[in-house]
Amino acid sequence: DSGDFDSEVETVCPYCGVGCQLSLKVKDGSIRSVEGINGPANENRLCVKGRFGFDYIDHPHRLTRPLIRRDDAPPKGLNVDPGNPLTHFREASWDEALDAAANGLAKLREEAGTRVAGFGSAKCSNEEAYLFQKLIRQGFGHNNVDHCTRLCHASSVAALLENVGSGAVTATFNEIENADVAIVIGCNPMENHPVAATYFKQFVKRGGKLIVMDPRGHGMKRFASHMLQFRPGADVSLLNAIMHVIVEEELYDRQYIAAMTENWEAMKDHLAGFPPEAMAEACGIAPDVLRDVARTFAGAQAAMIFWGMGVSQHVHGTDNARCLISLALMTGQVGRPGTGLHPLRGQNNVQGASDAGLIPMFLPDYQSVTDDGVRSAFTEVWGSEDFSARKGLTVVEIMDAVHEGSIRGMYILGENPAMSDPDVEHARAALASLEHLVVQDIFLTETACYADVILPSSAWYEKTGTVTNTNRQVQMGRPAVSPPGEAKEDWWIEVELARRLGLGWSYGHPREIFAEMKLNMPSLANITWERLEKSAVTYPSLSPDDPGQAIVFGDGFPREDGRARFTPANVIPPDEVPDAEYPFVLITGRQLEHWHTGSMTRRATVLDAVEPEANCSLHPRTLRDLGVEAGEYIRLTTRRGSVTVMARSDRAVAEGNVFLPFAYVEAAANILTNAALDPYGKIPEFKFAAVRAEKV
Ligand code: SF4
Repeated sequence: DSGDFDSEVETVCPYCGVGCQLSLKVKDGSIRSVEGINGPANENRLCVKGRFGFDYIDHPHRLTRPLIRRDDAPPKGLNVDPGNPLTHFREASWDEALDAAANGLAKLREEAGTRVAGFGSAKCSNEEAYLFQKLIRQGFGHNNVDHCTRLCHASSVAALLENVGSGAVTATFNEIENADVAIVIGCNPMENHPVAATYFKQFVKRGGKLIVMDPRGHGMKRFASHMLQFRPGADVSLLNAIMHVIVEEELYDRQYIAAMTENWEAMKDHLAGFPPEAMAEACGIAPDVLRDVARTFAGAQAAMIFWGMGVSQHVHGTDNARCLISLALMTGQVGRPGTGLHPLRGQNNVQGASDAGLIPMFLPDYQSVTDDGVRSAFTEVWGSEDFSARKGLTVVEIMDAVHEGSIRGMYILGENPAMSDPDVEHARAALASLEHLVVQDIFLTETACYADVILPSSAWYEKTGTVTNTNRQVQMGRPAVSPPGEAKEDWWIEVELARRLGLGWSYGHPREIFAEMKLNMPSLANITWERLEKSAVTYPSLSPDDPGQAIVFGDGFPREDGRARFTPANVIPPDEVPDAEYPFVLITGRQLEHWHTGSMTRRATVLDAVEPEANCSLHPRTLRDLGVEAGEYIRLTTRRGSVTVMARSDRAVAEGNVFLPFAYVEAAANILTNAALDPYGKIPEFKFAAVRAEKV
């Protein structure tokens, strides 16, 4: 009964890239319940995170005043109680904290050879992401700015830019309603994109064939016509074998290939080396199954391919995505209803933050920092000097540069590298060694424990701004409640910091920032703040009345000659392989109830009650061989460290594999993971490490 509430506010879910629209029911200044509404991506549906994961914003751990590290604080480390930071920090006024933050960064700017780097956030608005990259580029003259896309789909974006000329999806996930075949590979949508998964289930109910490919069995398996539980790291062998069959049996779309693509002959020659019979052992899938999948996909009238971090987070992540793009191109499955390439985005605004330029190689809209004309278009709007034409460092490279001493200060907004970086003890040591660290967040995160200055900011339900979901749908976020205490919206803090760095910014509202973004972002053509206040708009929007294009590239690709490209991929082994000392394969990932580093969902009452404890999953036979009962604790050890965690029995995990969720600080998965990088996307190999498991 809406009479029970003081107000109802329509906004967007803060968790995954699906971008469900919802209504927040507010009473006495606090959110009491959440309901799905009719957004373009969710049509009234919500998952458990959107429905119940809201009361973290009232948690007593919220930061309510700026904090400065005490002169007599103990050495930097994780030893700060997030409920009582005053053992290590003292409260300060906004003026004092902003001055301290800016002065520390400005001092490093003046010193020869020193550099400041910034991590922005995919949980903030498009406007806040845009301001963050501008602050680093304009304020420090270089491009050392990145965010969690580097840990998520950077390799997918590298392959998409290379081969189809655009890093975003070619079709919304809702287009599956027009498909008759779909591949879901390296992702677990029932837990990670649950509302998208509901559309996949409806597709199956209508008779669609769902081909699931994943080293781990998961919920979508129950809906699959084909389930290929292949060996971890064997993606390229698997996909090349499927494409080999399509070439061998001449199931490809000659007309589409001739009209719309390039490099086909080289691709065909390359695939000759990957017959299913030769690849079967490497990928653990029988040749007749590979042939059947190839025929099923190639025989589709309309087919889509969805993928997640199981594809992207490998040293060969870009090659994995190249294979998926080639598979869609050779069968002509791009640019029509029910066709397309769709890397499912993780964070609610990782698409928008990437579009807005939180990337070390690209200014907004993926315009290269190395292009003099591009830089001058931006500096003209910014009224500032030129900045470096050199690509900046990426997330993992920045931590390496801190260890080397070439980066000595950082500004981190809404990211938590002390949990999210691979080989996280290496990242924590880097954070501890920084001369000046400014952290802007809503909680005293593990990263904030290492800060010199902490700036308390607003949760998503406390702010105004736009976000862009996995479907390229730009949507308006609206505040339902006020930030606690003296906490401020992130854009306001960025503006105040920039002013103290001498940048002369004077934005008074996010709509002014959005207006500036439009000046150099063609993707926002025909999209205005006023339109977004009324409804979501999908980019590209071709006219002021066009709700946007759900499907793109029907009439050519945004590459020089309008053609997409086939880029052959070779088999590159994982960076480290199991041996006698570390005999198992570690795979990390998410669970339905918890979000990324856990800072929000583990403080949401219902979600924490449903899934309260760090856990890992192993096959029952693997557990038996270890002499471990389900519910007992095991120690997992890699070349980088150890964690102790409760073991669950799960037949969906292949024998010899360990699945470890990464949301739990008490058993932080990234103590174990490997920081080896994909050479193109610079994404670390989170999805494969050699691990030892022992009963505690
Ligand atoms: Fe939120 Fe994603 Fe769940 Fe939708 S599917 S309610 S966006 S977490």
